[in-house]
Amino acid sequence: MAALHVIAFGALFHFSWRNLAVLLLLHWVVVGLGISIGYHRLLTHRGFKTSKGFEYFLALCGSFALEGGPIFWIATHRVHHQHSDKDGDPHTPRDGGFWAHVGWVLFGHRPHNADPIESKYAPDLAGDPFYRWLTNWHWVPMTVVGLLMIALDGWALAAWGMCLRIVMGLHFTWLVNSATHMWGTRRFDTRDDSKNSWWVAILTFGEGWHNNHHAHPVSARHGLAWWEVDVSWMTLRVLKTLGVVWDVKVAKT
Ligand SMILES: [Zn+2]
Ligand SMILES: [Zn+2]
Repeated sequence: MAALHVIAFGALFHFSWRNLAVLLLLHWVVVGLGISIGYHRLLTHRGFKTSKGFEYFLALCGSFALEGGPIFWIATHRVHHQHSDKDGDPHTPRDGGFWAHVGWVLFGHRPHNADPIESKYAPDLAGDPFYRWLTNWHWVPMTVVGLLMIALDGWALAAWGMCLRIVMGLHFTWLVNSATHMWGTRRFDTRDDSKNSWWVAILTFGEGWHNNHHAHPVSARHGLAWWEVDVSWMTLRVLKTLGVVWDVKVAKT
């Protein structure tokens, strides 16, 4: 993790508009399509339906975030919803803001691949050979693409497209665990500390409307007011029009 941050910092000294464009495009594909729409709204909460092929594509995109494979991520997040800000929550700011942001990743008890917690909290995924493979080898597709970038274009593109993008994506995602359980406004009187945060929502394609989400976990739409910008919801609307996703669950407001 330290090496990744050092390389990401070094990448800043090799700026080019092309490298920035690659970083931003991959950030949307990985954190927007992969984590927000794939890992979170589809695989954790089943907020909409899609074909198996597109579901696997979204999960593969999510693996490029270096946030672990799908079974681990989804099991951890379901535990978070079950014990939000109570005993058993893997990352609540009640154990400290640093802990909620990154401490739990570095020092916490993380359910590993063979941990029975996963079959308990993600039996729907644990029974699927593709998700078992992607969970065990989640770093492989990303490493192959990183090596291809180095081979085809050199270190600078890989430093921007993989290292700096990963560090950025990790911190933005971690803000949902830390910042939106500490700072923001509450529309719903949920039993946890979740808040709505416009700036986290901008960084994470809509995941910052976290109080809305804790109140309506299955809703594929997180930004519930017209001014609550939710890029993943806009993306899902386009995908629905194209017939790629269907049966989209939306919270009634
Ligand atoms: Zn939460
Ligand atoms: Zn959730």
